[in-house]
Amino acid sequence: MINISLEKLKSREINVMELDFAEHLDHISVDGRQISILSPLEIKGEIVNTTEGMYLECNIKTTIEDFCSRCLKEMQVEIDSNVQGFLVEKDKGFLEAEEDIFVYHGDSLNFYKIIVDAIALNVPQKLLCSEDCKGLCPGCGADLNVEECRCSEEEKDERLIDPRLAKLKDLL
Ligand SMILES: [Zn+2]
Ligand SMILES: [Zn+2]
Repeated sequence: MINISLEKLKSREINVMELDFAEHLDHISVDGRQISILSPLEIKGEIVNTTEGMYLECNIKTTIEDFCSRCLKEMQVEIDSNVQGFLVEKDKGFLEAEEDIFVYHGDSLNFYKIIVDAIALNVPQKLLCSEDCKGLCPGCGADLNVEECRCSEEEKDERLIDPRLAKLKDLL
């Protein structure tokens, strides 16, 4: 999938290759997590022949679905990622550069891994639906943003109840 032929660049028939394409993906796996892709990936940029080799520079845009890390509500996250680095042929050693490199095989560059990495790097580590999201009650799983916790209705060890609440309870 998403293979880009580097033949013309390698033979120096051309020195700049414009990239401008859209790719449809349903989901990708990031660190074992399935991430849904909600809109086509837009890839725009170029690969340029430089004296040190082929250099890729592009922008990847899409919208993904992720979850609030407190209440697990579904959220849409815009991904807008800039990617750049030299292309290095597989098994031809690596450049001693600090920059990112992208490995290609033969004459073609597989863009899939580049896309996955770009998204993975931009998926927020901790996503919150709002700064003061109350999250889920660890006891009953109630979404505290929209409902009352049900734990208090259940039998509970008296010692776990806040003394102030216990007093309140006596008044009821
Ligand atoms: Zn939330
Ligand atoms: Zn609860």
